[in-house]
Amino acid sequence: MINEKDTMDDSGLTIVYTGKGKGKTTAALGIALRASGYDKKICMIQFIKGSWHYGEMNSSKRLEPEFEMVAVGKGFVGIIDDKSPIEEHKKIAGEAIKISTSKIQSGNYDIIILDEVNYAINLGLVELEEVLNLIKSKPPTLDLVLTGNYAKDEIIELADLVTEMKEIKHPFQQGKKAKKGIDF
Ligand code: ATP
Ligand code: MG
Repeated sequence: MINEKDTMDDSGLTIVYTGKGKGKTTAALGIALRASGYDKKICMIQFIKGSWHYGEMNSSKRLEPEFEMVAVGKGFVGIIDDKSPIEEHKKIAGEAIKISTSKIQSGNYDIIILDEVNYAINLGLVELEEVLNLIKSKPPTLDLVLTGNYAKDEIIELADLVTEMKEIKHPFQQGKKAKKGIDF
């Protein structure tokens, strides 16, 4: 058992989960699960989620009001598939940035998770500069988690904690399909 007095630190961290291997979003959800156990206020904003439904969209409701989940693309289901024009994707990502900015600056949260934001930057849906500004201007005690592969060097530079998920094996390589409860 870790002694709390030795480990307490109130300064907010910028945490990045990147890399090709599976586990980036689930690691962020793990933080949410852990922190809600201490009544911390957490908000997860999903940047790129098409019409898929993820289990966490249901289970997050059980952790309310501590945990809040904002699936920005959800209101746009039907247009956010691969056939929809880049402008539509940009609109959704822009909306996600706006929501993130207001949540981050509200001071109402202990932890904010920008899920798949690294992909959004990499796809050109979101300006890197906008995300760097979000990190730089966050309240000092806020923990900010950014997920998605292809994290930019500038983000890694600003972050306190960066973990690269390394793929060693994935059932996908054996032609196995995504599994309920594991993948979505
Ligand atoms: P998870 O949400 O399971 O933690 P992730 O956030 O690391 O995964 P994403 O890049 O966001 O990975 O991809 C989301 C979906 O793709 C999930 O269904 C996940 O299981 C699957 N996936 C993740 N990594 C791989 C991989 N290396 N090969 C194939 N599918 C993958
Ligand atoms: Mg993910």
